[in-house]
Amino acid sequence: MKAAHLLPCPFCGGPAAEDNNLYPLAFPKVPTEYFIVCTNAGRTCPAAILFVGPCATFAEAAHRWNTRAKPPP
Ligand SMILES: [Zn+2]
Repeated sequence: MKAAHLLPCPFCGGPAAEDNNLYPLAFPKVPTEYFIVCTNAGRTCPAAILFVGPCATFAEAAHRWNTRAKPPP
């Protein structure tokens, strides 16, 4: 189920994207981990490291991303 809506990045307003198994070699026994990342991370996004996760399901990761507190102005 990948239909969950992802809010834009609260730091730069860029689109969010799902990712998983960012470190399959470091954690070979974890079959799948879900992350939500800012697609501008490392480029125009002011947050150097920006993701939520790992989560067991994409729905949980999406929920955590969408309910994260916004940064102060
Ligand atoms: Zn961003």
